[in-house]
Amino acid sequence: MSLISDFILPCARKIYTLILTLLSSLLLMAKNRKRPICEVAVMEHRTANAFGWAARDPSGVLSPFKFSRRATREHDVQIKVLYCGICHSDLHAVKNDWGISKYPLVPGHEIVGVVTRVGSKVRKVKVGDKVGVGCLVGSCRECDQCVNNLENYCPQLILTYNSIDTDGTITYGGYSNIMVADEHFIIRWPENLPPHVGAPLLCAGTTTYSALRYYGFDKPGLHIGVVGLGGLGHVAVKFAKAFGSKVTVISTSVGKKKEAIETIGADAFVVSHEPEEMQAATGSLDGIIDTVPAHHPIEPLLSLLKPHGKMVMVGAPTKPLELPVLSIIMGRRTVGGSMIGGLKETQEMIDFAAEHNVLPNVEVISMNDVNEAMERLEKGDVRYRFVIDIGNTLKQE
Ligand SMILES: [Zn+2]
Ligand SMILES: [Zn+2]
Repeated sequence: MSLISDFILPCARKIYTLILTLLSSLLLMAKNRKRPICEVAVMEHRTANAFGWAARDPSGVLSPFKFSRRATREHDVQIKVLYCGICHSDLHAVKNDWGISKYPLVPGHEIVGVVTRVGSKVRKVKVGDKVGVGCLVGSCRECDQCVNNLENYCPQLILTYNSIDTDGTITYGGYSNIMVADEHFIIRWPENLPPHVGAPLLCAGTTTYSALRYYGFDKPGLHIGVVGLGGLGHVAVKFAKAFGSKVTVISTSVGKKKEAIETIGADAFVVSHEPEEMQAATGSLDGIIDTVPAHHPIEPLLSLLKPHGKMVMVGAPTKPLELPVLSIIMGRRTVGGSMIGGLKETQEMIDFAAEHNVLPNVEVISMNDVNEAMERLEKGDVRYRFVIDIGNTLKQE
């Protein structure tokens, strides 16, 4: 009896208490572990179903593609895409011309849409506002470039498509029904700027505006040359005219002369393979914006510059160009480059374009015609930018 009461019973009680404590600790641990994981999982996976057109391989052929956009974070804006311009770099990207394409690839970085959802901390825009998204959707926000509103030169720049986002996913562009982006990378759309006409400004506009401004080509009374009269070139002419310059277009396409002067607003036109015309224009230009995205010789163009003149490359040929050093040294000329623009400058450019009526010439197409448009773009058969009517013609399959 004493053995049971003095030894076995206390011992059994201790074992029982120990088992209970152990079980409740295990339960508590499981509970604590389970709750946060479950909540995080729910938050991270509450994504939005998206639909667009993607290239699957270097053939560049685009076809319907289902994917998802990230959940709208507290600083995020979700947009229903209305229009998206077709940039020449979309063509390079779908065909992997630069060797950096990640498939499936949804191109498009000239996006105009309407806000459908905002995160709790968004202050810049509200649901129902018209907005734009250009070439960038992210950057570190802390480096020298970022703090000086030059996010486009941030080493951790995240491009609107074909970039790796902070969460490890690949970014998809505007050939799609919805977009999600941090409000910092959203452009407020001016009321008087028609979205289907203004869309190309988000890349072609900011690229040429920023180059003209940075290299000092924005002063009235200068004589500016624009090489190539495509998507970038025709917008460069319009901005340079709005800044008060005399503008000469230098092009290989004789057929574009009448239109360049009568429709786009250039003052003069030089056919680059006509030696007499080139000779007559020698030493006449203060600055040149070269928009040609294909391989071409730059020495004949440099000869058009006055001494101390600057030539700025904004097209992106896939092969390096030859640099004629003697021509640069002799006239103390500068050959520079410029890549799109920061967010502050892009907003400034859009507002300037709306105020001064700088409107791209566009051909609006339906989503189903995008592959044909890409083929025409490759041949230079567009006056002067294709814009896809995403809002009305992108049909979910
Ligand atoms: Zn572009
Ligand atoms: Zn940065």
